[in-house]
Amino acid sequence: MDSVLTDIILQDRKIAYLITDQNLNIASTGGTLEILQHNVNDLTGIPIVQLIPELTGIEILLQDVLAGDLPRLELPLINRQINDGETNYLTFVFLPMCDKENNIPGVLCIADDQTEIGEYQQRLTQRRNEISLVKNQLARQNDELAIANAELTRINEIRSRLVSVAAHELRTPLTSINGYVEVILDEDLGPVPETQRDYLKIVQNSTSRLISITSNLLDITRIEAERIELSLQPADLLEVLESVFQEAKPLVNTKNQQLTLNVSIDSTVILCDKVRVAQILNNLISNANKYTADGGSIVVELLPANDEGFLLISVADNGVGIHMEDQDKLYTPFYRTEQASQMAVSGVGLGLYIIRSLVEFHGGRVWVDSKPNRGSTFYVTLPLAS
Ligand code: ADP
Repeated sequence: MDSVLTDIILQDRKIAYLITDQNLNIASTGGTLEILQHNVNDLTGIPIVQLIPELTGIEILLQDVLAGDLPRLELPLINRQINDGETNYLTFVFLPMCDKENNIPGVLCIADDQTEIGEYQQRLTQRRNEISLVKNQLARQNDELAIANAELTRINEIRSRLVSVAAHELRTPLTSINGYVEVILDEDLGPVPETQRDYLKIVQNSTSRLISITSNLLDITRIEAERIELSLQPADLLEVLESVFQEAKPLVNTKNQQLTLNVSIDSTVILCDKVRVAQILNNLISNANKYTADGGSIVVELLPANDEGFLLISVADNGVGIHMEDQDKLYTPFYRTEQASQMAVSGVGLGLYIIRSLVEFHGGRVWVDSKPNRGSTFYVTLPLAS
């Protein structure tokens, strides 16, 4: 009964056993011998090293098991090619085969089919290798990216320095040209004939434009380097607007446009850098003037903002307007709408980028509400002083 039971278990678990004699030749066998994939039907008499070649070189350990000096020897997950090209995995355990008198007449070898575990381990190793390959690739790409990034930063710094130096160097002679032209136009040096006056005015307009471009370029390099410093002080927006309107008047008059101011708020004192706020308003009014036809209107309004502690400024025109899909791109450096590019209007697309940065440095926001051919209203919020 016991041996029948043992056979059933050995068959079910796919276990084979071999017992050797003192010379390590196979003396008897049992269990699921098929797992050994050996084509000799009767294994008796074969040296165990011949059946299990992995023992070659470590026969001494087998002798130790036989001598009772080594209680257990294990060869885990030995792979064997089987007939149809597949691989199975066997684990061999060698134990001293003690008899009742505690003599050791041979070695018991238990062979256990562990193909499932072996395949699983194989897959695991494969995955590990793949992961380490991907990791190495990633590390290499990261290194390459870091080098490219460093190079980009270097080129960016050179570009910023170049722009900054060029703009500085241009601004000084341009300002002096403008100054001298003004002296001539003021007739401080004597009367200026009308024809010459016209040409000098063109020179003056062109140099003013170049000065404004160089200032914008300098502002851009400062914004990018986060080097804009605001001198924040309470200032009455009405006073700032007065000088901005004064400056805008000639441009507005040339196009027969109407520039008006509505104030719908009690306190107009804000906490700001006066020069920068003047720059923001100048730019918005100049855009309204540029992108509105002759005879159009520009309305500046001061209102309470929804954001608590802020004042809202709106600059509305009835000009060409801006398509919905263009409105988000307006604040990108050098962006100009197709309509603007087609109009005979000067501009480089830096103004709104600078405006937004300056407003945000003040803690405020900028947005636009516009419809093509109906006009645009730009909104700016700035912090109230109180
Ligand atoms: P610039 O006027 O020098 O081109 P800005 O940065 O001030 O640059 O404006 C970016 C673009 O936004 C302009 O080129 C124009 O297409 C559009 N834009 C700005 N203001 C207006 C406006 N009031 N009406 C219509 N389009 C405008």
